[in-house]
Amino acid sequence: MYKEDELLPISALQHLSFCKRQCALIHIEQAWAENRYTAEGRLLHEKAHDGKTEMREGVRITRSLPLRSLTLGLSGIADIVEFHQEEPGQGIKLPGVKGTWRPFPVEYKRGRQKTGSCDEIQLCAQAICLEEMLGLSIPEGALFYGLPRRRTIVPFCGEIRKLTTDTANELHSLIGKGQTPPPELGSKCERCSMKDLCLPEVNCSKRKLSSYMNNFFREDEE
Ligand code: SF4
Repeated sequence: MYKEDELLPISALQHLSFCKRQCALIHIEQAWAENRYTAEGRLLHEKAHDGKTEMREGVRITRSLPLRSLTLGLSGIADIVEFHQEEPGQGIKLPGVKGTWRPFPVEYKRGRQKTGSCDEIQLCAQAICLEEMLGLSIPEGALFYGLPRRRTIVPFCGEIRKLTTDTANELHSLIGKGQTPPPELGSKCERCSMKDLCLPEVNCSKRKLSSYMNNFFREDEE
């Protein structure tokens, strides 16, 4: 169990999954740079956080809900948590509303669905926070992608829960060490908001630089 003053941002899980060095630059060195991708993502999140609670088609929608898990050592804010009506005797009661309800976290993402599990890990961390705070199980949530505008259901199976716990532990270990790892030069660097601060071409090993340059010029010739 972590203490309150040891909590790290849920969003750091995604930075870690993308690149350890990016995560360290942001969360150890407190550096931040915005590019087109982060600006579009920020606008999408601001839209999701625009408003508080509403009822739509029998679903109660809550925006900007604060989250915390002492088990994962994480805190943050959920874009949207829907509360779906449950059978009597299941779910939780909500103030001022009849019936019982089960939370269903929804995270907004710009662009297309990515390869890898970073979005699922971030969503699962939100679900684990809600489970711990509200004392009930949350079997699934959803990711909403901007391109194409589509909602993808994410079941919180044992595998994604383990991956989320492992990533949270790795995050605490990285931040605890307080050392920024060297660059991992690759195609992801081209869409990284920290590229100008990281200088991956300058700081990486000669072998990796040579392979990067080969790939770069090969792509250029196509
Ligand atoms: S430029 Fe590349 S190595 Fe540097 S932080 Fe970004 S993704 Fe990581």
